[in-house]
Amino acid sequence: MMRGLWLLLVFVAAAKAERLFTGDQVIRINVQSQEQIQLLQALEEAEEWGLDFWLDPVSTELPVDVRVPGSSLSSVKNFLDAHNIPFSVMIDNVQDLIDSEGAEMMENQMKERTTKSFNFGAYHTLETLMATCRSICLQIYNWMDTLVAQYPKLVTKVEIGRSYENRPMYVLKFSTGGNKRPAIWIDTGIHSREWVSQATGVWTANKIATDYGTDVSLTSLLNTMDIYMLILANPDGYAYTHTNDRMWRKTRSRNSGSSCRGVDPNRNWDAGFAGPGASKYPCSDSYHGPFAHSEIEVKNVVDLIKSHGNFKSFISVHAYSQLLMYPYGYSYIAVPDQPELDSVGRAAVQKLTSLYGTRYKVGSICNIIYQASGGSIDWAYNLGIKYSFAFELRDTGRYGFLLPSSQIIPTATETWQALKYMMEHVRDNPY
Ligand SMILES: [Zn+2]
Repeated sequence: MMRGLWLLLVFVAAAKAERLFTGDQVIRINVQSQEQIQLLQALEEAEEWGLDFWLDPVSTELPVDVRVPGSSLSSVKNFLDAHNIPFSVMIDNVQDLIDSEGAEMMENQMKERTTKSFNFGAYHTLETLMATCRSICLQIYNWMDTLVAQYPKLVTKVEIGRSYENRPMYVLKFSTGGNKRPAIWIDTGIHSREWVSQATGVWTANKIATDYGTDVSLTSLLNTMDIYMLILANPDGYAYTHTNDRMWRKTRSRNSGSSCRGVDPNRNWDAGFAGPGASKYPCSDSYHGPFAHSEIEVKNVVDLIKSHGNFKSFISVHAYSQLLMYPYGYSYIAVPDQPELDSVGRAAVQKLTSLYGTRYKVGSICNIIYQASGGSIDWAYNLGIKYSFAFELRDTGRYGFLLPSSQIIPTATETWQALKYMMEHVRDNPY
């Protein structure tokens, strides 16, 4: 008990360094004209209000979600009223959700220390901040070692390089033998604040390991193919969301000539780099970086995929909006494989929806959300990896990036239905 109390105090002390969002609201704006979109886009560049767009203003078809600092609330609401732009409050106090998320994590950590078992329905840190906690607190990196120890014939942990802040980047490789078999790539958490993505990655890796040998379809797949999973595609960003700023999305690299840190790692790939839908401003959350693959986290993946040379599918997992997308993001031109990708996507989503009724939209990034250049699945597709897809997981905005941990397992379970369908299609359609 004394130790528990002591830990609690350390957490409270550590929490003080964190950025607070007290009084911040997330408001949903229903834009009705191109003119209103342009007004909102101008606000995106205006730094004085400190707006954080969770969903960007791009089309009258889609809602715009924006976190508004408490200090700017009345100005923003007056502005919207003055321009007759309708809005509603989605999250009344952002800090309240962050506080309950933190309390749940702490409670879970105590429980895991008692039961000595990893709870897949909880959010976890990447590494442990306190040396004294290293061996007793469960987190994602030491959970990986547990998984490898449990399934040594199937799972290996491969370090593909280091992050900007020198954290190891680990890929879990699921393989039953062979040399560079046709492979499926899955990455989660490239945008660090999309926590349900990383948590879904952890659940999925465990699912693959436990189902091999019992699930006939997955077993046959792994008898001819390998699966690679990069659960923490942006490790520095993820660590930062736990220690300093829950809303951090980018990498943590320094930008020359700017005090703003980080590059959007999903605008940094060599696919229409620096085109529409990416920002040239280092302070922007969609800053594309100084050149393609400038981010070491991106470069490490590029190098691995290229040197392997036999990836047949590339799947990148984000949140939120409930979408399953295929290339392109940087261009409105339909890819040659559009009919097949669309039908695979639709069938996969049908499987997903069949479980709990969660509804997804399917389409190319450009047509379903907006033009976004420098994205990973466009790069993978242009490299010749036909089955390239991106997910946006739950929800549709009630909680946005702050999805309660009670939804982790349902989200991962329904997503697995879609993933499995897609992987089976890849297995059965060699090219
Ligand atoms: Zn994302």
